[in-house]
Amino acid sequence: MTNQRIAVIPGDGIGPEVARVGVRILEKLASKHGLGLSFEWFDFGADRFLRDGTILPAGFMETLRRDYAAIYFGAVGDPRVPSNEHAKGILLAMRFELDLYINLRPCLLFDDRLSPLKGKGRRELQFTVLRENTEGLYTGTGGTFKKGTPDEVAQEVEVNTRKGVERIIEAAFTFARTAGLRKVCMADKANVLLHGHGLWRRVFAEVSRRYDGIAAKAMYVDALAMDLIRAPEQYQVIVTNNLFGDIVTDLGAALTGGLGIAASGNIHPGRVSLFEPVHGSAPDIAGQGKANPLAMALSGAMMLEHLGHGAAARELNAAVEAQVREGAHTPDLVTQLGGPAATTEQVGQELLARLQG
Ligand code: ATP
Repeated sequence: MTNQRIAVIPGDGIGPEVARVGVRILEKLASKHGLGLSFEWFDFGADRFLRDGTILPAGFMETLRRDYAAIYFGAVGDPRVPSNEHAKGILLAMRFELDLYINLRPCLLFDDRLSPLKGKGRRELQFTVLRENTEGLYTGTGGTFKKGTPDEVAQEVEVNTRKGVERIIEAAFTFARTAGLRKVCMADKANVLLHGHGLWRRVFAEVSRRYDGIAAKAMYVDALAMDLIRAPEQYQVIVTNNLFGDIVTDLGAALTGGLGIAASGNIHPGRVSLFEPVHGSAPDIAGQGKANPLAMALSGAMMLEHLGHGAAARELNAAVEAQVREGAHTPDLVTQLGGPAATTEQVGQELLARLQG
């Protein structure tokens, strides 16, 4: 069995609390399924930045590319670093420099009681969003002019490349085909943003012709936002740009139980990729044992799947689902599911116990 090295970056706030639980669970699965995974911890985050100025050491990206199979990431962000420069230098740098162009976010409801929508339960809330993760309005292209004066001009330029648009749309259709799904929706604002989103429209039409048997629908993102509340069952796979993806996936998280159980992958197929919970470092609850570790665990399941360990991933997903339906909950889920509140560690222990053997 070849060894797959996992770089664990727990980060700030609740990141280390949920990462501890996540790694313990993955270690158990690795030993049970004979997966040959090894976990190596890195202390990048606010403490390290404030101590010695390190954001990421020189050459770290190259090391990740060369030596690691995946990155298991907690969260970054700390009130002691108001500029957030360390967080940008860690997470955004990895997304861009490792070219992790697919932000994959499943929005799957585990329990009807978590649905905020009347009459919509597990059967209706089952969609996955692929958000473009390296272009759009997030490249920092633009600038300000006459800053601080009444004549100030501020511009952010949306970057859409043919290559970038095509590969994320292609990824959405490939994901649908692999998962046996039959519908892909692309969300844009092509009625207003004629150039960039016109490109998305053209490429979507072109790529969809290569996927027989998958229904392709292009729609405006405002219409999609309404429809996801009104008729979420119409959606299986949604592909969209960086900004709209940010918003649509938060909507998806709210529809399926909240940030405590929302997982994501930042993926470049065939290359080192990064798996992290959707939530941030949540400084308001850090150090109190209130953080829900299930988003981190589910991100671990996505990582296992990506590394080719489907059986272990399925076992972990099933254990999390059972935990949501029958187990103890951190305060974020108690509001919706009832029962006394459990700590991060208690939920982690129960989850661990659900993994047989
Ligand atoms: P970012 O800008 O990095 O997304 P943020 O502070 O805006 O960070 P989060 O850190 O995700 O957002 O936290 C938003 C709120 O959601 C927090 O105040 C916290 O109460 C709650 N929250 C986030 N993650 C969890 C979790 N794992 N368990 C319980 N509550 C959580």
